[in-house]
Amino acid sequence: MERMTSIRREHARDQAVRAAVEQGLLSAAEPVTALLDTTGIRASAAALTSAFAAVTDAPVLHAFAVKACPLVPVLRLLHEAGLGVEVASPGELALARAAGVPPCRTVLDSPAKTPAELRRALALGIAVNADNLQELARLDALVAAAPTASPLGLRVNPQVGAGTIGALSTATATSKFGVALRDAGAREAVVQAYLDRPWLTRLHTHTGSQGVPLALMAQGVGEAYELAEEINAKAGRQQIDTLDIGGGLPVDFASDEETPTHAEYAALLAGTVPGLLDGRYALVTEFGRSLLAKHGTVLARVEYTKTSGGRPIAVTHAGVQVATRTVYAPESWPLRILAYDAEGRPRTGEPVVQDVAGPACFAGDLLCTGRALPLLRPGDVVAVPDTGAYYFAHHYAYNSLPRPAVHGFTPTDAGGIAFATVRRAQTLDEIVAESGGAHPDALVRQPLRESARGVPMEP
Ligand SMILES: *Cc1c(COP(=O)(O)O)cnc(C)c1O
Repeated sequence: MERMTSIRREHARDQAVRAAVEQGLLSAAEPVTALLDTTGIRASAAALTSAFAAVTDAPVLHAFAVKACPLVPVLRLLHEAGLGVEVASPGELALARAAGVPPCRTVLDSPAKTPAELRRALALGIAVNADNLQELARLDALVAAAPTASPLGLRVNPQVGAGTIGALSTATATSKFGVALRDAGAREAVVQAYLDRPWLTRLHTHTGSQGVPLALMAQGVGEAYELAEEINAKAGRQQIDTLDIGGGLPVDFASDEETPTHAEYAALLAGTVPGLLDGRYALVTEFGRSLLAKHGTVLARVEYTKTSGGRPIAVTHAGVQVATRTVYAPESWPLRILAYDAEGRPRTGEPVVQDVAGPACFAGDLLCTGRALPLLRPGDVVAVPDTGAYYFAHHYAYNSLPRPAVHGFTPTDAGGIAFATVRRAQTLDEIVAESGGAHPDALVRQPLRESARGVPMEP
């Protein structure tokens, strides 16, 4: 499938916004909702697969990083498109299993796996990347106790440095992830750990996410490759047979362009780490944001407009609950805002510098400040594109605002748009239930003092 052009994406989005308003997905009763471009997600999955197929004949498992879009129907779509999943918690594993992703297409990474999580993963046969040498010691005990089909690896931090967003840079000198390879004695300890464990057959690295330049990502992968070569040479055999190179391809949030592409990254790897792709190593990738970001759009109605200190402000229903990173760290996570009228048609007109605010009760709840947009009016619709990864699926429960519905959309043969419910909006009953609604008297009833074993104690 061909890469989508930005014109096609803009057109598809305009059509979807119009159809969402016409079909009542966005209304006074449900003033915020989210759309996923199903065709676009399929196209990105296909483009990723062909990007690596173009540079290597080795088997490649593209394990989608579930944290980027933890929605069961999305995982099922990607599974049917030939991708696997990367999970990092029991919850993410449960989502993957609910989507029907088999253990052999699942990779478990996380810096804090409990013994029970590890035991379950090994019982299922899920690939596990240990984060550190203490975790390897836990795996020793489990591997000795019962046979497992799980391919096992270790995550290393090549310490190649940070990108532009510190919180997302995982290969810094002091990152919490993996074994820090350049620390004194660490490389030797890692090599020895492999030589001591014939079942340790994978090596994992993930250099970071948004803000890490491609060259730095490739450098991190190159260092992991060199380490695998060293270990295999010392072992006198191809002990490490699979390299997991992580994800982290950045996304252009300033336009509808899909840049850089997975193909550009694959070509860069082919140029800088050719041995990685010569067929001796199977590969695992773990892309998240680059597969989903461009395919999600938040829609919100403008409730009121006002001016404050002379600046026009549109108060909408999308704010910190769906765009948490942008609201708290606007410099690192700017988002585009697109203006539509109440019927869902692109709003034209002289751009006016204005703020677009969310519904939450704190002053910083702003999607953007000082942005030149056609002047918004009550009842208008704002669209926030590029929010398919790490945004609306990552609800922040501030002010007990409900999780919005998510709808997938596809063009129909008749030239219209068909929607499918990915997730319906959270109800007020559900909000009450997750807020202790089952125990309203918990703090006012005479407490029944119990010992740790649940045996009532003498008063
Ligand atoms: C978050 C994460 C990913 C995905 O990163 P993206 O920037 O979304 O591609 C992949 N692997 C690991 C280990 C991660 O923590």
